[in-house]
Amino acid sequence: MDGLTQPGTETPLAALQRVFGYPAFRGQQQQIVEHVVAGGDAIVLMPTGGGKSLCYQLPALLRPGLGIVVSPLIALMKDQVDALRQAGVGAAALNSGLPPGESGAIERAARNGELDLLYLSPERLAMAHCLDLLRRCRLALFAIDEAHCISQWGHDFRRDYQGLGVLKEQFPATPLIALTATADAPTRRDIAVRLHLEEARLFAAGYDRPNLFYRVVEKRSAREDLLRFLRAEHPCDAGIVYCLTRRAVEETASWLSARGREALPYHAGLPPETRALHQERFLHEEGVIVVATVAFGMGINKPNVRFVAHLDAPKNLEAYYQETGRAGRDGLPADAWMAYGMADVMNLRRLTEAADIGEQQRRIERQKSEALIGFCETVGCRRQALLGYFGERRDEPCGNCDNCRDPGAESWDGTVAAQKALSAVYRTGQRFGAHHLVDVLTGNATDRVRQLAHDKLSTFGIGGELDARGWMSVIRQLLAQGHLAPDPEGHGGLMLAPSARKVLRGECELRFRRETPRERGRSRKSGGKAAAGIVLDPAAEALWQKLRAWRLDEAKRQELPPYVIFHDATLVEVARRRPGSLAALGDIPGIGRSKLDRYGAALLAVLRDAG
Ligand code: ADP
Ligand code: ZN
Repeated sequence: MDGLTQPGTETPLAALQRVFGYPAFRGQQQQIVEHVVAGGDAIVLMPTGGGKSLCYQLPALLRPGLGIVVSPLIALMKDQVDALRQAGVGAAALNSGLPPGESGAIERAARNGELDLLYLSPERLAMAHCLDLLRRCRLALFAIDEAHCISQWGHDFRRDYQGLGVLKEQFPATPLIALTATADAPTRRDIAVRLHLEEARLFAAGYDRPNLFYRVVEKRSAREDLLRFLRAEHPCDAGIVYCLTRRAVEETASWLSARGREALPYHAGLPPETRALHQERFLHEEGVIVVATVAFGMGINKPNVRFVAHLDAPKNLEAYYQETGRAGRDGLPADAWMAYGMADVMNLRRLTEAADIGEQQRRIERQKSEALIGFCETVGCRRQALLGYFGERRDEPCGNCDNCRDPGAESWDGTVAAQKALSAVYRTGQRFGAHHLVDVLTGNATDRVRQLAHDKLSTFGIGGELDARGWMSVIRQLLAQGHLAPDPEGHGGLMLAPSARKVLRGECELRFRRETPRERGRSRKSGGKAAAGIVLDPAAEALWQKLRAWRLDEAKRQELPPYVIFHDATLVEVARRRPGSLAALGDIPGIGRSKLDRYGAALLAVLRDAG
């Protein structure tokens, strides 16, 4: 034992405070910890940032013996082990990334009872040698992190995970806890069956990420809008920007770099060394933005990603939830920002009409993209829409999304406007794109309009009640509501869908979302200098920057990511409270005994120097 652990003598709460420095449990953590400490098996479904790690780390400390954690990615293991060591816990990892010779020493330490937690990759665990080793250790528990990887239904299926059923077979008396952030019913059943956890207690915390602020802005000049958003709300924060194509990734990264942001591209077409370097810089430096395709994100558990921005709409709500979920793991406010426009609807529609999928698959894909479009177009609470999609009903709007915060989001009766737009599509022959249609509706006699004699049509100039942007929005929403469809050749032209007939005949009333200029330069908070939503007075803000600089130095010295030293939330609290003594410092959440010993004096010195 490392001297810090005293199995059997400490309550879970006391251990939480001593080792991790947190004053209280969150959500169901306490029940889970108590259940596992008592020897029970558990399946834990908790959203990202919900605090899953403590659910097995604490029981491993509180039960005699070694806790075995199975984790899919070497980078994740390394982060966890580093963070545990900082907290004074005896932790190590066995995986293929180890320098030769080191695994022998770790195995010895495990056998001799010198470790509290041992992280293993699933392929390592499958080796006979490794199971032998486990048989010779006293085991406190097994934890299977990212347990959805076991299921073919899940989005990260891993063959290696399928062998993990052997654990319950060979070690029936050792408690086993399976954890994941994403598990629909079929995946959940798979986890239970394959790990032999049919009798295990289920702890399901739901999908909500209360600290994420959801916002969808009308796409016009998306990059400019993004830059404005970053300048106003995240001038020095780290974040992820998702784009649809590799080209857009590269262009956006250099465009942002030219405007003073540290922005690095990441996509599957870049050499592995470049990708690794960019990921490394994202984790180890402060304020780096990664501009990426969906290739980026799995296994990124940097807790202080303050925003995830989508320059293009993701392909469905599962992807959106997954991608935005990478923001704000530390529980501090974070932003999910999306630019959404006509091109996105066209893309989504085209994807589902692609020829190479079967009819049933097509129907599923169509429902999924409909749900995403619905989420983007809604004037109601975004969180209600998102959680509703995952089957979670909420009676009250959330108060923490753009539509809830801004009463400007409202709908209007667009029946007549819709009829005008649809007739313009019809009269021009159902083959022109939105821009041309807008020219016709607003009476803009461009060369093209005149060449085609569209200025002679009865629909030319009938749309004086709206400006070009207003008509663009009407056409997008007609497409979103399915009254218009992209032409099958994919030239960007629009055709009437079958339901357009009813609209033209006045048989149904249409409502549209009113686009208000609220997104322009609008900031959801007054200050804007601190990390998202954290409002600090100027003195505390200056201090927080000094503490951050100190942390970065310290992290570099130890070759660790800054968040392994201290989380933002902890340093922000130090800046707010300005504790004058070690005792006062120790009261701050996130400063346990080991970190107080290690860094207490240095933190007090930073506070003193700041005056
Ligand atoms: P998950 O694995 O569920 O995404 P983590 O275990 O990484 O979440 O925890 C997310 C963040 O919340 C971490 O920064 C962790 O230190 C913090 N945290 C977890 N439990 C508590 C708690 N009881 N009090 C304060 N912070 C907590
Ligand atoms: Zn809301």
